[in-house]
Amino acid sequence: MKVFYSDHFVLPLPEGHRFPMVKYSMLRERVSEDGICGPGELRSPLAVTDEEILRAHAPNYLKRVISGDLTDKEVRRIGFPWSERMVERSRRASGGTLGACLAALEQGFAANLAGGTHHAFSDRGEGYCVFNDSAIAARAVQAAGLAERVVVIDTDVHQGNGTAEILRMDPTVFTFSIHGAKNFPFHKEESNLDAPLPDGADDTEFLTTLERGLKASLDAVDAGLAIYLAGADPFEGDRLGRLCVTKPGLAERDRVVLETCKARGIPVAVTMAGGYAHHVEDTVDVHLQSIRRAADLMEKDAAADGQGGILHDR
Ligand SMILES: [Zn+2]
Repeated sequence: MKVFYSDHFVLPLPEGHRFPMVKYSMLRERVSEDGICGPGELRSPLAVTDEEILRAHAPNYLKRVISGDLTDKEVRRIGFPWSERMVERSRRASGGTLGACLAALEQGFAANLAGGTHHAFSDRGEGYCVFNDSAIAARAVQAAGLAERVVVIDTDVHQGNGTAEILRMDPTVFTFSIHGAKNFPFHKEESNLDAPLPDGADDTEFLTTLERGLKASLDAVDAGLAIYLAGADPFEGDRLGRLCVTKPGLAERDRVVLETCKARGIPVAVTMAGGYAHHVEDTVDVHLQSIRRAADLMEKDAAADGQGGILHDR
């Protein structure tokens, strides 16, 4: 299976910063060891272009991100200090999601070992998110004529507020978010379908709600592509999660989402989104099992036939 990584585009953070940057390189190493990728399938993505970003973001916002002219308040809201490397990493992380979408359209499944930056709004960033990779990738795929409709299945414990805002008026992209009702963001946007869960929700409650919402979403839109945000933060050992979903429960989540999409013939690009476990190894375990499941489901005979679109070789 094709897997895109961008951990080598290092984002410089001050000492003691709370963001678990190390998870990305640990995850790449685990994916590499696990034999998920064949030769040449573990890839560094291209950066998304201004044109691609502008399908999801306001020109003035992009301009100020690039030039470093965001206000202090805007930078605080993003949570990363501004640097040119931050901009480049954000472009590559979105490029990984676009690459995974294009690979999934050809082969059924693919993954980005970053992305899921669902708190990025059209005109501002928030919560470690600068560019909204799901919106950028969905619209790039549509612009290339490779899928008419896309579904975003967001199972990160935080609501996909930026994704909801960007795509609110767009009937061609359906947004589904299952999340902790009392968790960040405290002001929720309106997705096409929201499934808020109470604090302490366990495997049964999470999975029952997920299955119902997933079915309703896939029934509502005849999607040619799914972008699956497999956040690791609904995990019971997460510092920020507030839910009580176990690792086997999250493995079942992956199975339900990926098998349901496969049964309906919908290709899936898996992205990572959040994960802030007390022990970073747990976050990496949860992400790895999502990728492993997708790779296991990928039909080995659906190898690339060279019939990709104009963005084929990303
Ligand atoms: Zn999250």
